[in-house]
Formats: sequence, structure tokens, C-alpha cells
Amino acid sequence: MYFNDQTTVYFDQQFMPANDCKVTVYAQALHYGYAVFEGIKSYNTAKGARIFKAEEHYERFILSAQKLSMPCDYDVDSLVKITYELLERNRLTDAYIRPLLFADIPNMGLALPERSCLFIAAWDWGTNYLGTTQKRLGISTICRPNPTAFDLEAKAAGHYVNSIMASAEARKRGFDEALLLDTNGYIAEGPGSNFFYEKDGQLYTSPKGSILPGITRSVVIQLAKQEGITVNETLFTPAQLEGLDGAFLTGTAAEVVGVASIDDYVCQKSYQDTIGYRLAARYSILVRES
Ligand code: PMP
Repeated sequence: MYFNDQTTVYFDQQFMPANDCKVTVYAQALHYGYAVFEGIKSYNTAKGARIFKAEEHYERFILSAQKLSMPCDYDVDSLVKITYELLERNRLTDAYIRPLLFADIPNMGLALPERSCLFIAAWDWGTNYLGTTQKRLGISTICRPNPTAFDLEAKAAGHYVNSIMASAEARKRGFDEALLLDTNGYIAEGPGSNFFYEKDGQLYTSPKGSILPGITRSVVIQLAKQEGITVNETLFTPAQLEGLDGAFLTGTAAEVVGVASIDDYVCQKSYQDTIGYRLAARYSILVRES
């Protein structure tokens, strides 16, 4: 699915076949999860491939590297340029793009790396990561990492062990997706998406702190505000979901996907009648505008 003999990637300052990339197994990235990454999407528009919020994603990429004191030799403009060339070389339009900056030199110590390596791959991806049906979420027994231990605004590879464990637990318990609490018992987010719920015509979403502040989350907040909908960025507990009208998850890969229930809290309105449904439709148009 991700690559074949024809796939070109950007690796260590050049374009090359995916099959030719070599990484040492002594890299700090592999042993300690010392890497940062992004998840970006491009869409087929009337003017060809368009990377949605390319600058915002690469700004976050560079910020993630800075937060982890990882050297990054690239600026936003050059990263965007490389990515468009990568799409062109692979003849991709509707694609998922995965930049990864990782500590690549052999180093089993815990010192900061003196250099890092940039890898960018893209693959065809017209589908939505979570599908289009409404998801049944299960509140995870695994909480988000403590924000005083990790800067959760950095999209760091190592943080995603937490996401993998929470997703696996949710599926084992028969849910579609996990919903993670922060260390104080407030709802934070999904393993790879942000969470919103609707009650009495208003939206609620967790504030920054224990979440990855999603780019889709801010686009959706803007779209909602344009419609005059109040969006409350506030802490809330699972008990506050009692009687909720609707809910949805947001993320680059998931886009805007409806939620049917969270544990035993079932959304009162049918999804088609919720704010989330309207915003999902508007988001889907927005990403394909040229
Ligand atoms: N939270 C987490 C933990 C994520 O991995 C993602 C996906 N990047 C999101 C939220 C949503 O972020 P975005 O909308 O920027 O893709």
C-alpha cells in the first residue's frame, strides 16, 4: 500500500527510490522514538494537486523539531516545494504525505543528536482514515501522557506508543476508536484526532494542554464560528456528556467523522441533524477548493 518498485521518496537531501533508503538499526530514532513527523493530505482540485494547509503543517513540523531540540535544516518554503515535487514525481493528487525528521546516526546514548535526517513519503489515499460511518468510542483506561513530562504540542514519534496502545485496547473492547482522558480525568482526544461534542446548539472541545492542537480542529472551529455557533474550548469530564446531541472527531486523515456514542452516552440526534454533519460537508468542499 505505501510503496512499490516505482515509488520515489525524499530521503537525506535527495529524491530516490523508496527501495534504496537505508537506515542504521543503531539510530536513536529507532531505540528511543526520537523523531518528529506530520500527517498531511493533498487533494485533487480543478487546478491539480493541492496540499491542504501545507504551511501550517510544516510550521508545526519545524516547531516539533525545535521542541525536541532536533536540528532541522529546512524552512517551510523548501519543505512545501519538495513535497509538491514529490507528488509530481509519483503522479499523485489525492494523497497522504508523511514527513519524518529523525535522529539517524548510530547513537545509543541519551545526548541530543548533532544531525537529523529528513524523509518524506506520499501514497495514494482517496479514502478517509476512520471511514464514513459514525464511530462508537470507548473511554480508554490509558490516559494521555502527562504534559509536564512531554510537550504534547510536539508531534513526536514516541508519543504514539500511547496512541497505539489506546487504539488496540478500544478495539479489543469492541469499540471503533478510543477516547483518551488527560491525567486529571478530563476528556482529551482520540489517538489520532481531536474530539468535539454538541449540546444545546453549542460545541465543546478540549483546550490545549493535553492534546495535539489539530490543524483540522482549528479549521472546524473557524467554520463553526462563521455559522455563528459558539465553540467552547473548555475542560469537561465524561459525565458532562450525559444527554449530548452529537459528537465528532477531527483530523487530517479522519477529516470530520461522526460519533454515535461514547461508552454508554448515546448521541440524542441522528448524525444528519447535527452541527458535525454540516461541518463535515463544508470541510470536504473546502479541502478540494483550488
Ligand atoms: N491528535 C492527535 C494525537 C493526532 O495524531 C492528530 C493527527 N495529526 C490530531 C489530533 C489531529 O491533528 P490534525 O488535524 O492537525 O491532523
